[in-house]
Amino acid sequence: MTRHRGRSRSLLVVLLAVLAAGPARAVWPFASGEFPDPVADPGNAAAQVLARAIRIRTVNPPGDEKPLAEFLVDLLRAEGIEAEVVETPSGDSEPGRAAAFGRVKGNGRKRPVILHSHLDVVPANPSEWVVPPFDGLVAGGYVVGRGALDAKGIAIVQLMALIQIARRETPLDRDVILLATPDEETGGQLGAGYVTRERRSILHDAEFLLTEGGGILESDPPLPPVWGVAVTEKTPCWLRVVARGTPGHSSSEPRDAAVPRLVAALEKIRTYESPPRVVPDVARMFATLAPYAREDDRKQLSDLTFWLDFDASFRGRFLADRGQNALVRNTVTITVLEGGTQTNVMPAEASAHLDARLLPGESCQAFRQEMLDAVDDPRVEIETLLSFDSGAGSPVDTELFRAIERVAKRFDPGSVVVPRAISGFTDAHYFRDLGIVSYGFVPRWLPARESLGIHGPNERISVRNLERGTQALVAILEELGGVASH
Ligand SMILES: [Zn+2]
Repeated sequence: MTRHRGRSRSLLVVLLAVLAAGPARAVWPFASGEFPDPVADPGNAAAQVLARAIRIRTVNPPGDEKPLAEFLVDLLRAEGIEAEVVETPSGDSEPGRAAAFGRVKGNGRKRPVILHSHLDVVPANPSEWVVPPFDGLVAGGYVVGRGALDAKGIAIVQLMALIQIARRETPLDRDVILLATPDEETGGQLGAGYVTRERRSILHDAEFLLTEGGGILESDPPLPPVWGVAVTEKTPCWLRVVARGTPGHSSSEPRDAAVPRLVAALEKIRTYESPPRVVPDVARMFATLAPYAREDDRKQLSDLTFWLDFDASFRGRFLADRGQNALVRNTVTITVLEGGTQTNVMPAEASAHLDARLLPGESCQAFRQEMLDAVDDPRVEIETLLSFDSGAGSPVDTELFRAIERVAKRFDPGSVVVPRAISGFTDAHYFRDLGIVSYGFVPRWLPARESLGIHGPNERISVRNLERGTQALVAILEELGGVASH
């Protein structure tokens, strides 16, 4: 009796275990044939899921990210993974905005790692594209569409990696959390900003975070593949310049009209040059890359702070590269213009938007004053549209950085892992502010020209990249999670 009951109990345990693991997968859309299996055929599975994600429009504004969050959460739940649609402020957005959360628990010995991305995309002008930007086409080994790189392609690689981790026999030492937030493209206040302010508990006291901002640059020899890990970034300081003047009929030549006043102010801003300044993270990045640079620049790049000041001809060469220039300077770009609406009427007010990007540690308030001083016109005002402190960058001496280095060696012998400063900005600062070590890094191999698709036409990612990227991300998580068995 006892023996018999014991045996049936163990059978029951086995049966329950099979039911718990098996059927959850059986209802998973991959198993139903809707998508290829994410472990057996990871590249095509990722490609098909990404194509679907591209078809769910999330152009911000207004965003409307909720259906995409629901799609990702459904995929995770069907796999038996803990997942939740996290409501975020929706305003006028219909059908609404939300983040996607998923978690695979570890054994709790170490604090979690978050895989972060964003669900929204920038607009796309179909006339500039060779295929419709929101059709999610898979052809010629590529997935083409708005968001393929920025950042739906990242969300899907992270999702695939989470599924592979979930299917492992042994848990990792840490929870792996997937978090895809809305609203990044307009500053993230209602996405990552909201989650870090109002829903902090879902971050589960994470230690690390990986998000967009860095990747693997495939360069021409002798430069090896560069695994660029963004540890710090410039900070946006978005300003609105408003000029006021006498309104009226424009048949007489205006002495004091708003539009000419604005044009004069903008000309001073356009030609304004802030002095170069090399922050430590930028100095370290160029020093790491120096051995691969053209021979006559190597010495200078290895000590950029000194030589940029000292060697005028090197300074000229260095600053002529717009990307390099942006890493050692505050930059300001005039973007939006608003003024009159009729040819023969002088408006009382004319305005322009400035997209200024400040070096880490600089203040938008001070830069605004710098612009006011440059303009030097009492009838021109400058207001702040968006700004935040970039705060301190993330340290490099961490388990996560070393995990990336080990995986880089394995996947790309001869590659170099470089802590980078980037001239764009991401949601990383919201998480850095909470003390989470946050790196802008997604394992994908892109030649420089391919990155032009980000915010540009014909954005695409190769199926091979999706597959290898998932493998590399899983390898990083395994290295980080401390798996002695591997
Ligand atoms: Zn992005």
